[in-house]
Amino acid sequence: MTSPAPLVDQFQRCISYLRLSVTDRCDLRCAYCMPERMAFLPRKEVLSLEELHRLALGFIARGITKLRLTGGEPLVRRDMIELVRALGRKLGEGLEELTLTTNGTRLAEFAEDIFAAGVRRINVSLDTLDRETFKRLSRRDSLPQVLEGLRAAKAAGLRVKLNTVALKGVNEAEIPDIIAWAHGQGFDATLIEVMPLGEVEEDRFDHYLPLMAVRADLERRWTLAPSGHRTGGPARYWDVRETGGRLGLITPLTNNFCDGCNRVRVTATGQLYACLGGDERVDLRAALRGPDPDMALSQALDVAMRIKPARHHFTIEAPGAAPALARHMSMTGG
Ligand code: SAM
Ligand code: SF4
Repeated sequence: MTSPAPLVDQFQRCISYLRLSVTDRCDLRCAYCMPERMAFLPRKEVLSLEELHRLALGFIARGITKLRLTGGEPLVRRDMIELVRALGRKLGEGLEELTLTTNGTRLAEFAEDIFAAGVRRINVSLDTLDRETFKRLSRRDSLPQVLEGLRAAKAAGLRVKLNTVALKGVNEAEIPDIIAWAHGQGFDATLIEVMPLGEVEEDRFDHYLPLMAVRADLERRWTLAPSGHRTGGPARYWDVRETGGRLGLITPLTNNFCDGCNRVRVTATGQLYACLGGDERVDLRAALRGPDPDMALSQALDVAMRIKPARHHFTIEAPGAAPALARHMSMTGG
């Protein structure tokens, strides 16, 4: 038996947080995330419910205490709620928090079940409150469904953090309204810079909006006090005095946040990416489909700890440049 030692990388960072993608599929086509004609994977490539469960248990045995389910859109996977229920049973038994990131289109249907399974907080991605902009950006007319989903989440007792990708010339002018609306609903709000992941039809450089500039603009309108709140992730938080809410800023391109990194990501095909901004990876599916899955998985996690890089390699270098990494965010999850 390999010892169930905690996951510590070569830079002495303790890895306690797993983001697990349960599908590469999605019911939206956000222009910065994937092309309209996105080629999704054949289903046999994707981990089964049993494999996802086994994999998550293997991580929990090695000290992962926080697990976020993501995608693609996690709630489009048919057996997703079964996985949430199965993992919910590990809460208090190694697992401290189970969360998910969703686009919200199917939350109205699942919010109560998710809460009943033990999930208490979710991240919902919403880049605009304007139906036409939503339609243009996500290529689907789903804003009413998402708003209904947010109402259902709140009613079910889930704490919501709204994630908004800041996009020059798309939702730039709307950002203060989105934050004020979120805070009015009792939601936290976080802004994200667009990252160069995977080919899309447009040039992301055209829409890259540095959050330093957004923050300066917000500070002309509101009083932002640095908040002590930390999640071990890349977000830095501010309390907005006028709205009484919390604002997070995720600036992967303008700041470096790698020293305190506590996470790894696994794709729906079981590829562990040691860094969102790097290509270092380990094939956990091969381990899971081999003769001694639990042992092989644990050994693969040891390899992952040896290859996790010190820092990410993102840049949005120049107009028209190829993406820094070929894989889409929908593959590694957000
Ligand atoms: N479908 C779910 C959703 O939209 O919340 C979960 C997966 S999605 C890939 C997770 C997050 O990644 C979303 O907040 C999305 O806006 C963000 N995202 C996708 N592509 C991105 C990119 N190239 N740069 C920055 N954020 C991106
Ligand atoms: Fe789908 Fe989320 Fe990507 Fe939008 S950001 S296309 S909702 S995976």
